[in-house]
Amino acid sequence: GTVDFDCDVVVIGGGPGGYSAAFRAADLGLKVVLVERYKTLGGVCLNVGCIPSKALLHVAAVMDEVKHLEVAGVKFAAPEVNIDQLRGHKEKVIGKLTGGLGQMAKMRKVTIVRGYGNFVSANHIEVDETTGDGQEKTGSKKIIQFKNAIIAAGSQAVHLPFMPKDPRVVDSTGALDLKEVPKRMLILGGGIIGLEMGTVYSTLGARLDVVEMMDGLMQGADRDLVKIWQKMNAPRFDNIMVNTKTVGAEATPEGIKVSFAPAKDGITVPEPQTYDLVLQAVGRTPNGKKISADKAGVAVTDRGFIDVDIQMRTNVPNIFAIGDIVGQPMLAHKAVHEAHVAAEVIAGELQGNKELAAAAFNARVIPSVAYTDPEVAWVGLTEDQAKAQGIKVKKGLFPWAASGRAIANGRDEGVTKLLFDDSPEAHGHGRILGGGMVGTHAGDMIGEVALAIEMGADTVDIGKTIHPHPTLGESIGMAAEVAHGSCTDVP
Ligand code: FAD
Repeated sequence: GTVDFDCDVVVIGGGPGGYSAAFRAADLGLKVVLVERYKTLGGVCLNVGCIPSKALLHVAAVMDEVKHLEVAGVKFAAPEVNIDQLRGHKEKVIGKLTGGLGQMAKMRKVTIVRGYGNFVSANHIEVDETTGDGQEKTGSKKIIQFKNAIIAAGSQAVHLPFMPKDPRVVDSTGALDLKEVPKRMLILGGGIIGLEMGTVYSTLGARLDVVEMMDGLMQGADRDLVKIWQKMNAPRFDNIMVNTKTVGAEATPEGIKVSFAPAKDGITVPEPQTYDLVLQAVGRTPNGKKISADKAGVAVTDRGFIDVDIQMRTNVPNIFAIGDIVGQPMLAHKAVHEAHVAAEVIAGELQGNKELAAAAFNARVIPSVAYTDPEVAWVGLTEDQAKAQGIKVKKGLFPWAASGRAIANGRDEGVTKLLFDDSPEAHGHGRILGGGMVGTHAGDMIGEVALAIEMGADTVDIGKTIHPHPTLGESIGMAAEVAHGSCTDVP
């Protein structure tokens, strides 16, 4: 048929991966078309992920924080929450950011085609156009011809097959809708997304249960940190069920009745429980099977991921993929970095710019943060991972009970933990391999540990860097000094 658009690069998906790739490619002088089925740019992260969850978590954190002032003789009356206004506030936050993205696309002359994109060949995409606030199809189709494509179609929440279709069963998108506050809520899956949403609902008044198949909450984080998080958060929960599977659920007039089974020998599980709200947060599945990748010859794994090399190139040389669709960790900051690599490689190839064409994704580490209260943040190796890999580490553990700032804040439950290479080859000057923190603002501080790992810093580099006093960030320098064996006095 006829070609409606002809471009250097077409990007499928307008999330953090997609818009970052489109903007970078346009900045590098390429003609870019971005295909997005929804009305706004921003993808999961801005519309139903990172940003709305943080808007709500900020409110929850302030509500919780004022309770810590009671020891200082300051007591607030119980908060009055207007749930509709709170939801409206969250929508405004989203609107500001997605509106900004629309402007940035326009400034860069990125053409946005609204609709479902599907490959029809290794040089053509057909877009089934959509309109309105959702994804209503207009019936009109457009053909985009491209030199290169970047697939950034993201992921979506996994739904357990036996969960009833019922308004009282939601995924993270439904939970962010925040229609009302349930009395009893079950979080299915004890990962970051479930625990963040649980924090919001619990602060607003819900009692929580959580069920997790693995042997602990927040898999991936150091157990020393999670232990402290769990102790601080115990009052929110009636039941923390680990090593436990959810095996059935039934919609009843009283609520959603959920049954459990041991995921491991020797575990006892409760009788079926009834909840006003069940949040499914058991992981996300990539959208790789939904873009007719086979028509372009792009290989998609059984699970729907698309494999790429360090230049973010798929098995088809002119087609790249980035973000959640290429694998774990499914995080926005990873998607953005991968996006820049793909755009730079393409620009370099089209323009004969060797330096750009040689771009590659070679981050050593990608930090993770649970924006709960307290926050948990980690990057690089954990102690368990080091042990499993047979790497000898020297650890520096700095309890915030010795941090002037944390004590002054009335929040000294935190811990900063750093791990340094202690193998014989390191000769006692081992580089930092990983680190984590539990405590208020941990997420804002973990970037320093990531930088230290990227720079190959050792205990002296970090410990002798003068951190301002009194700050929570000092705990990073202190932890390094502890690992060095030189920390004796604390502020
Ligand atoms: P997505 O953001 O999923 O975007 C993909 C886009 O592609 C979507 O807009 C979709 O509509 C579009 N699309 C898909 N298929 C097609 C098609 N065929 N045609 C046209 N358009 C299509 N990450 C963090 O780093 N920090 C956080 O705090 C954080 N919090 C989160 C909280 C929640 C509740 C959730 C669910 C996720 C959170 N994440 C967070 C993860 C983060 O949202 C994702 O890692 C990130 O959005 C991935 O970006 P992406 O560009 O790969 O894909």
